[in-house]
Amino acid sequence: MKIVFFSAQPYDKVFFTQFNKDNYELVFLEIPLNEQTADFAAGANAICVFVNDKITAGVLEKLSKTTVNIIALRCAGFNNVDLDSAKSNGIRVCRVPAYSPEAVAEHAVAMLLTLNRKTHKAYNRVREQNFSLNGLLGYNIHGKTIGIIGTGNIGKAFAKIMLGFGCRVLAFDLIANKDLETLGVEYLPLMEVFKSDIISLHCPLNEQTKHLMNESSFAMMKKGAVLINTSRGGLIDTKAVIKALKTGQIGALGIDVYEQEEKLFFRDLSEDIIQDDAIQRLMSFPNVLITAHQAFFTNEALTQIATTTFNNISQLINTNNLTPQAALLV
Ligand code: NAD
Repeated sequence: MKIVFFSAQPYDKVFFTQFNKDNYELVFLEIPLNEQTADFAAGANAICVFVNDKITAGVLEKLSKTTVNIIALRCAGFNNVDLDSAKSNGIRVCRVPAYSPEAVAEHAVAMLLTLNRKTHKAYNRVREQNFSLNGLLGYNIHGKTIGIIGTGNIGKAFAKIMLGFGCRVLAFDLIANKDLETLGVEYLPLMEVFKSDIISLHCPLNEQTKHLMNESSFAMMKKGAVLINTSRGGLIDTKAVIKALKTGQIGALGIDVYEQEEKLFFRDLSEDIIQDDAIQRLMSFPNVLITAHQAFFTNEALTQIATTTFNNISQLINTNNLTPQAALLV
């Protein structure tokens, strides 16, 4: 039984090797999966992919002519997979629906606190013996209104943290979470949630949510509001957010995900000339904090991702089904 990993990083190799209790043959490839690289899956029974691998109809057609009949996503989001095409090609697709949602929620909070209290600037200043406070003024998060869009596993964990800070928490989701309502979260129409002091995005990227944050939604926001996105880059219209940052309509932006991230994230480009002008512009703002899709990156989450992925694969081989069902996409 052979599993080929695409977009594999050194830490993937460490965690997946450690939790390979069934002694599968593991092949780790650094290259991403796309139509040009799909042939590298030859001879595998399953492939394991990540957020920026492109599992398009063309890739699935190529895979269907190989021995691969399982695609195991080592992530929760699945906007990068053509599920209809996987189904028609008889390839099963599974994911890790919930691996330490707290990891992502806590990173969203870290971004918010950094932007607000400017600890990244204070750290550098003090190292240069500059003990002045000028320019570091923040505000209390306590008492502010937080708008959460998407209250699934991660949004729920984020809501609970913000309630602990003493915030008023507003939320928008297709389905209200009763437990959160009991804790004091108020579900309101999206337009009302847009009026919060701080907005954090935790819904998936799909046709309904693509560019959910666009010129007209920015216009509905409170002037100077903070926007945090740890979900998927495509939720924000990048050109529109740059415009809103320039006018001050958005007061601060924290992003762990970026629309064009597949050409940038998860690699060291420090010696390269970046061709993406939008990210260069975003990096030039003093009130923008960018991290390179690291919100999931904790010891607990990587352990959970590796163990769940192996469980998914072995269950699919042995029973052709999965528990919990949420892990099975096709
Ligand atoms: P989840 O499926 O548990 O929750 C998603 C929630 O969004 C659900 O409650 C759903 O009803 C809601 N939703 C769906 N469509 C919506 C819409 N149009 N408007 C508002 N709400 C909507 O998912 P999760 O585990 O909480 O993950 C959320 C997202 O976080 C994932 O889709 C993934 O893209 C992203 N993610 C990012 C990282 C990272 O490292 N940055 C890690 C894991 C997940």
